[in-house]
Amino acid sequence: MIANNPLDTLRTVFGYRTFRPFQEEIVTRLIGGGDAFVLMPTGGGKSLCYQIPAIHRPGVGIVVSPLISLMKDQVDTLRENGVAAAAYNSAMGEREARQVLARLHAGELDLLYVAPERLMTDAFLERLREIPVALFAIDEAHCVSQWGHDFRPEYVGLGRLRGLFPGVPVIALTATADVQTRSDIIDRLGLRDAQVYVTGFDRPNIRYTVVDKQKPFHQLLAFLGNRPQDAGIVYALSRKRVEEVAGKLRDAGIEAAAYHAGLADGERGRVQEAFLRDDVRVVVATVAFGMGIDKPNVRFVVHYDLPKNIESYYQETGRAGRDGLPAEALLLFGYGDIAVSRSLIESGNNPEQVRIELHKLNAMVGFAEAGTCRREALLGYFGERLAEPCGNCDLCLDPPESFDATEDARKALSCVYRVGQRFGMGHVIDVLRGSKNERIQQLGHDRLSTYGIGADRSAEAWGSIIRQLIHRGYLEQDLANYSVLKLTPAARPLLRGEVSLTLAKPRVKVAPVKKEPKRKGVVASLAERDEDLFQALRALRKRLADEQQVPPY
Ligand code: ADP
Ligand code: MG
Repeated sequence: MIANNPLDTLRTVFGYRTFRPFQEEIVTRLIGGGDAFVLMPTGGGKSLCYQIPAIHRPGVGIVVSPLISLMKDQVDTLRENGVAAAAYNSAMGEREARQVLARLHAGELDLLYVAPERLMTDAFLERLREIPVALFAIDEAHCVSQWGHDFRPEYVGLGRLRGLFPGVPVIALTATADVQTRSDIIDRLGLRDAQVYVTGFDRPNIRYTVVDKQKPFHQLLAFLGNRPQDAGIVYALSRKRVEEVAGKLRDAGIEAAAYHAGLADGERGRVQEAFLRDDVRVVVATVAFGMGIDKPNVRFVVHYDLPKNIESYYQETGRAGRDGLPAEALLLFGYGDIAVSRSLIESGNNPEQVRIELHKLNAMVGFAEAGTCRREALLGYFGERLAEPCGNCDLCLDPPESFDATEDARKALSCVYRVGQRFGMGHVIDVLRGSKNERIQQLGHDRLSTYGIGADRSAEAWGSIIRQLIHRGYLEQDLANYSVLKLTPAARPLLRGEVSLTLAKPRVKVAPVKKEPKRKGVVASLAERDEDLFQALRALRKRLADEQQVPPY
């Protein structure tokens, strides 16, 4: 195909007026023969980044894609736009395959989509050596890494391409890669010289909020009561919890439906339909819900339990506010959830996988415990930088209250030291609070000088303090070794009383929306009732706080 410049191609072939951020830079980079690594969310427009250069460079652009259905969609769209594209995979008959190969050798193709196991055969690579190749594009490149969520062994062989075809640019593209996965992909594909482009993960209309999980159902009710008109999704980790929460919501007069993989297909379809048609206001679901949900006016996503990693959290919260209007992402963050997820992960039998998943869980906890702009933490995880704090997350809108934690920190650190830096958070907290469990007695830890010195605080409060000490670098958690807590060198001046420390108080309350509910129906009055509930809860906490001399948060 004859083409003048990339912008002309964008307009005349694809019918779009302007490039999206980075598309033009990436296209120019490839046309110039350079390698690229592109991290862009789903729907961001990754395909054009290699399709346009393939049209502009002499020879055929080879696109590696893991799914035959994806290949077919792409090829069909390209053909509609008049681009000479074809697929070569195991789904096609022998005759069709021969035709594709004939067109390949005749130099008739601009783009050829190939499954990795087809591409990396000696016979096929030999063919490619005989013809000009415009570029290699490796789509869904996270499949090459065990750190990604969809590792495919047949992707590993692609690492040879860079060496086998010097002078042919390689571009790897993915929507999901944290910093680790990213460097792993670059390593495995031999893309040391690739220019890295990270773009477009921010969803500015979503407000991220994290509250400490105390009475989760009441917290959820308060949140829903504040938004009586809005539709949204509540994610919970287990089917049992999904059923339970959905049932209790219905009892409270809220149109809620449960969705999880244990339901019959028909039932799942009905829930999905009802949600899309606005017949059901709230879907309480496991992670099974969402694939292919394209409802533009999802106003909120609540995480009733802690997601397993930031990728899932990002994907799930990303279902809110597709219409660009303000939307909310609320995470109920409970200390117990960390332990549950951790033990689930640790019960896995692939040590490498366990290590990776623990690392990811830890990053998720880090996000939940961020002390400054939530969006900065979230985007930072994907390697994207914000120019300034977002002004639209709980931490920006309502910076955390802090308290002088010097004494508490010393107690916690010396307790870690006294138990020999050989125990995890749960045990350290038990010792601090003077818990009478059997294990403590067997170990003789009830005779330690730090036994019971923290009885004035709840386990949750200690959990929050210790996790903040980890994030601030006073403690480290040995993930490869039962998450044992150890002191870092930074802990010494604190222990010796040379410095003081301020930490954030945990958050419990769900902030109400600013706007007045328009209609004061059943749900609005329920919201009022729930405000009463909240007042009662707060009063109770305050009483407990007075009794236990804990600061009331
Ligand atoms: P990804 O692979 O990143 O998920 P796609 O390449 O499939 O995204 O593109 C998503 C959608 O955005 C497609 O419908 C595509 O045609 C459209 N698109 C891509 N680039 C542009 C652009 N510059 N202007 C308008 N629409 C675009
Ligand atoms: Mg794509």
